[in-house]
Amino acid sequence: MKPIVIIGSGHGGLTTAREIRQLDKNIEIIIISKEQVCAYYKPNLSKALAMKKSVDQLVMKTADRLENDLDVITYSYTNVAHIDTKENELCVMGLEGEQKIGYSSLVLAMGASPNNLPIIGDAKDEIVTVNSLDDYVIFREKIKNNTRVLIIGAGFVGCELASDLVSSQYHVDIVDLSQWPMQRMVPKEIGDAIPSSFPNGSSKWHMNTSVVKVSKSDDAIDVHLSNGKKVSVDVVVSAAGLSPNCDLAFDSGIKVCGGIGVDEYLRTNIENVYAIGDCAEINGNYLPFISPATHSAKALAKTILGNSTKLQIPGLDVAIKISTCPIVVSPSLKKTGRWVTTGKEGNFISRFVADDGGILGFAISGLMITHKNTLAQECIAANSLKTL
Ligand SMILES: Cc1cc2nc3c(=O)[nH]c(=O)nc-3n(C[C@H](O)[C@H](O)[C@H](O)COP(=O)(O)OP(=O)(O)OC[C@H]3O[C@@H](n4cnc5c(N)ncnc54)[C@H](O)[C@@H]3O)c2cc1C
Repeated sequence: MKPIVIIGSGHGGLTTAREIRQLDKNIEIIIISKEQVCAYYKPNLSKALAMKKSVDQLVMKTADRLENDLDVITYSYTNVAHIDTKENELCVMGLEGEQKIGYSSLVLAMGASPNNLPIIGDAKDEIVTVNSLDDYVIFREKIKNNTRVLIIGAGFVGCELASDLVSSQYHVDIVDLSQWPMQRMVPKEIGDAIPSSFPNGSSKWHMNTSVVKVSKSDDAIDVHLSNGKKVSVDVVVSAAGLSPNCDLAFDSGIKVCGGIGVDEYLRTNIENVYAIGDCAEINGNYLPFISPATHSAKALAKTILGNSTKLQIPGLDVAIKISTCPIVVSPSLKKTGRWVTTGKEGNFISRFVADDGGILGFAISGLMITHKNTLAQECIAANSLKTL
């Protein structure tokens, strides 16, 4: 029998391999990644400074350990160039040149890539991202011996990076087009509580504006904003959102919507080809978080081994790692609704409510995060989280 092949060694790919191996000790599993295969926990990338962890200390298992513990074959620095869905075969380009690899089942776990921003200027290539361990090596090298960092994007990753940098005495500038931090996930009251919670003088938040140009000047990078202001910093980090990695799937005839389109069994439109994690769009829902990928991997392992299992997501709570302003968000799968907020001084409970009064999601902050389980139960009672 041909092996099960997993493209991608992030949380989605490795959890799928682990779940399959738990259920079947013998089936051959191959994991392919365009980066170094290793196990690390991506959420730690935005709190590693506070954890006082070096890049090496973030690696939980090397490729050798994974091969040994999970009895899998890994291919690092190997790019999948094409999927032949008729012959069930991949064309890969790796350290040993071009190669064909056959599969019985194929799992696409290729994650998402940072959005390309329309920024001009001779320092454009100096902008770094933090979306993989390889990125993080560069980020840590850049911030070494520097003190001023500008972050493009005040979404949850941008806010977490800002919090982590400030915890290590960096000064951060945060730039975002939206009106308040994390606008797509939390109401204004909670968004505004984030900058207020940062130590005095540690950060400057430039909202309602964007970065248009970055240019080199002596020892600094001059960042020009659309509101006409200029900020001089040492390092510029982009945390301005991710787009699912779909090109390979699209070029191989696999249906792509916003992400790689799958149903509640994680099946694409092609038999024996599945998608999971940040590259997948599950029945029209895009859920780029750890917990949906974990639940997906558990269901998918059973399905691949012959026991078709629907994905069930009991809760979508995401803890936002801002040390001065703890927040828990359960994102709504539906975009239309309104925030109903109670509380004050950084301690808020916000329900995202549909027209019929049903709770679609929630955001809680400060001392109110202890109410997480009660709100999660309200969501489950309103049946808003499970229906994918
Ligand atoms: C800084 C940061 C902090 C975060 N914190 C949280 C958090 O606190 N809570 C939470 O729920 N979520 C968090 N997230 C999101 C969460 O980490 C992701 O949803 C999750 O890690 C995605 O896993 P994945 O396996 O889908 O993708 P990835 O981890 O991105 O893995 C993709 C893999 O695919 C490989 N690949 C891609 N294309 C190819 C190709 N053509 N050929 C071969 N290999 C390929 C890559 O090399 C990589 O190994 C955070 C994200 C970031 C960036």
